[in-house]
Amino acid sequence: MFILLEGKPIAEKIKTALAAEIAMLKTKHGKSPKLVALQIGDNASSAVYVKAQKKAAESIGIEYELKMLPQDLSQSEVENVISDLNKDISTSAVILQMPVPKGIDPKILVNMIAPGKDAEGMHPENLGKILSGQYRIAPCTAMAVMELLESTGIKLYGKEVVVVGHSEIVGKPLSIMLLNKFATTTVCHIATGERGTLPDHVKRAEVLIVAVGKAGVVKGEWIKDGAIVIDVGINKVGDKIVGDVEFESAAKKASYITPVPGGVGPLTTTILMRNAMEQFKAKL
Ligand code: NAP
Repeated sequence: MFILLEGKPIAEKIKTALAAEIAMLKTKHGKSPKLVALQIGDNASSAVYVKAQKKAAESIGIEYELKMLPQDLSQSEVENVISDLNKDISTSAVILQMPVPKGIDPKILVNMIAPGKDAEGMHPENLGKILSGQYRIAPCTAMAVMELLESTGIKLYGKEVVVVGHSEIVGKPLSIMLLNKFATTTVCHIATGERGTLPDHVKRAEVLIVAVGKAGVVKGEWIKDGAIVIDVGINKVGDKIVGDVEFESAAKKASYITPVPGGVGPLTTTILMRNAMEQFKAKL
């Protein structure tokens, strides 16, 4: 029998603690954190994220400002906006909403956000700190996975952990965070899939984390008995949202498994708020 590992209860706990700390700091210093979201042009998927971010921020006392920039702004004009935000003392943290229009290089922009104002933990300086295990902020989805794992009470020390997907935003930082906990970490990626050895690795996993973006890329029959399964994937299949792991058959084998939607997703925005708060606190 599996336990459904939902993100919402953990997110609520973190938000309650953040709200109390923000209120306390406001009383003490007369200031609150401010998160600025930069959105370039109109985009339906960004609009969904922005709405969720605003709701989460305002529910805990973080000021949220959406800066909508015209679609046809040049790279250097966007860079000027970021420079101004870096200098603005009222801005605690900045997030660049993805995707950006064609002709804009998001990597240059992310690298331009001051490391002390980076809300997503994607600046190279902040990513680098993960290597030494000395970090206050981290990429939101990777951190959300770590929170989910911690909630199970599992000790990662020496465990066989398999991460499927090696993106800069999820798989790579996560694999380092797991190494910091002394997990025996294997990272699978496109070449593992092409070589046909993905099932062999998944079958060994006591903890499996999948962040690929392909519905059903991991079959339920591959799951080790009693494994903890964290499915980061979000895929639209018909009118349904599903993960990367075949849920029904995987749930028969797993001890814990995240639902999609409702697992990692609800925690990601909360971690973004925690990052913004950490940046604010570091400047007090
Ligand atoms: P991404 O940048 O496209 O990375 C996908 C990774 O999967 C890549 O490392 C890719 O390898 C690897 N891959 C592709 N096919 C594979 C296969 N057959 N076998 C093994 N590995 C394979 O995506 P992402 O940004 O990491 O996101 C992954 C998924 O998580 C997406 O569905 C996304 O929507 C979801 N997501 C959810 C949240 C949330 O809050 N719940 C947040 C972020 C992302 P190569 O790069 O070598 O091709």
